[in-house]
Amino acid sequence: MLRSKTGKTSISLNEVYASIQGEGLLVGTPCVFIRVQGCNIRCPWCDQPSALPFREESVKLEELFKTLESYPHRHVVITGGEPFTEESLPELVSELLIRGKSVQIETNGTLWQEAFEELATKVHITCSPKAVASWYVHPKVREFAKEFKFVVDHHLDLQVLLSFEEVLVKGCVVLQPEGNKAIFLQKALELQLRLLNLGYQVRVIPQVHKFLGLK
Ligand code: SF4
Repeated sequence: MLRSKTGKTSISLNEVYASIQGEGLLVGTPCVFIRVQGCNIRCPWCDQPSALPFREESVKLEELFKTLESYPHRHVVITGGEPFTEESLPELVSELLIRGKSVQIETNGTLWQEAFEELATKVHITCSPKAVASWYVHPKVREFAKEFKFVVDHHLDLQVLLSFEEVLVKGCVVLQPEGNKAIFLQKALELQLRLLNLGYQVRVIPQVHKFLGLK
């Protein structure tokens, strides 16, 4: 039975599938991805174009949980699209936690929901700030995210990274070369070294699932 926080009991879904977490600090973890439909921004290299438009259609959360019961996975990744555009996010997350799942949310960081606040410390929030949003990250996401994943492309530079000094200090920054391209891997390694010389250690992690031929 759902414990409703916002009164929302349905979700706009793009897809549900099992794989490994191919990105960031939790790389290699077996997980079920819940991809919500709709994103509030448009990144030029987005690899999920089908998840960007908002749609009216939604499925009942109860139906989604029935689907999830067929997976043995303990870790659930809510991705998108942008998960914080989904009003039923607090219901979804609190029910997953009640069912003993570990929950990760992948967000562009631009949005927040007040009803989510009491759950924020119980999940792994991965924030990936975006150039098209002028690197804006909502103060609550800055406060609660356990990981900041920067896609290394033509836009990212040292100044942008240094504007996130409080998360650099925490050691939770990942540099992810866009599209696993050699030019951006090289740039990521150069940024890593420059940060190291300034006293900050960051990780360079490519999209591992793509090397493995996984979704
Ligand atoms: S925030 Fe994510 S889902 Fe939205 S356009 Fe950018 S990469 Fe795609």
